[in-house]
Amino acid sequence: MTHAIVARQPGGPEVLQLAEVDRPVPGPGQVLMKVTATGVNFIDTYQRSGTYKVSYPFTPGSEAAGAVEEVGEGVTTLAPGDRIATAEGSRCYAGYALVDEAKALPVPDGVDDFTAAALPLQGITAHYLINSSFRVEPAHTVLVHAGAGGVGLLMIQLLKAKGAHVITTVSTDEKAQLAREAGADHVLRYEGFAAKVRDLTDGAGAHVVYDGVGKDTFDGSLASLRIRGMLVLFGAASGPVPPFDPQRLNAGGSLSLTRPTIVHFLRNAQERRWRSDEIFSAAANGSLKVRIGARYDLAEAAQAHSDLEHRLTTGKVLLVP
Ligand code: NDP
Repeated sequence: MTHAIVARQPGGPEVLQLAEVDRPVPGPGQVLMKVTATGVNFIDTYQRSGTYKVSYPFTPGSEAAGAVEEVGEGVTTLAPGDRIATAEGSRCYAGYALVDEAKALPVPDGVDDFTAAALPLQGITAHYLINSSFRVEPAHTVLVHAGAGGVGLLMIQLLKAKGAHVITTVSTDEKAQLAREAGADHVLRYEGFAAKVRDLTDGAGAHVVYDGVGKDTFDGSLASLRIRGMLVLFGAASGPVPPFDPQRLNAGGSLSLTRPTIVHFLRNAQERRWRSDEIFSAAANGSLKVRIGARYDLAEAAQAHSDLEHRLTTGKVLLVP
């Protein structure tokens, strides 16, 4: 037996209950990972609340790191004791989780297990957003919302490494300090941010806006763009964006809008290796700092969700079984 968080219906954080469950058995092409730490991500809250449909009983969690305990039939590249992480797991709010061999990321020396659990999902997200959803170049001015969040702090650092000019938004002084330490050139509050972005760009606006906040920022994000700029809407921390008239893209200056999701940017082994190697090697050599803002016992998963949803966290939130 082992422990896992189980939700029996959608609802608030309180539906996340610790339960005793059977230890999973790896099927063909899978490994059983003994979890050292699990990453909490905003998508887990959408699934818990019913915004995204799941089946019950439901154990959240697609991100974790740990060690291979057992291998299933046909597994050739992993052996018991190997350190792995994943951004594409399932039921990771648990002491043990099954991981497909193809989706297990080897953890390099120099990256500890907590960092390994903190990095894959938000790191790969930051990587695909700035390299593939829109390819950022040194001359670009970029607006990133929620700059002290998990994705935000990583994206600011990766954008500065590319030489871009980075403007970000945050809600508190403490978060502003963290965003500045990550390298942001300008840190704004949300109120009136579009006008401030225009002031900072001689009236032109940003080349690209990365918006994971959604409902509350969407209009201002469009208004922050220069002619032919792109809005990359990648999340809905404040709620989903209501239906939208495409004519607004014309009026705003022949703008583009995309709504990407990570699964379409991990299409094959080569793409997975490219993104994960770049972020893990940057973490290993210290050029990418991974802030773990909070660690909770697995049993406190409800508190972790509540804190994330109430904007009380910075950087990565981890659960420790
Ligand atoms: P964060 O750590 O960034 O937490 C969310 C932050 O959003 C908060 O800390 C808060 O920062 C800001 N925020 C603004 N308004 C609200 C609000 N009303 N309620 C809650 N938070 C608010 O989370 P993650 O880094 O895990 O995720 C960031 C976004 O990226 C999420 O929308 C998530 O769904 C999305 N995402 C998308 C992926 C994809 O592939 N499309 C993959 C991974 C994440 P502040 O207080 O400074 O405003």
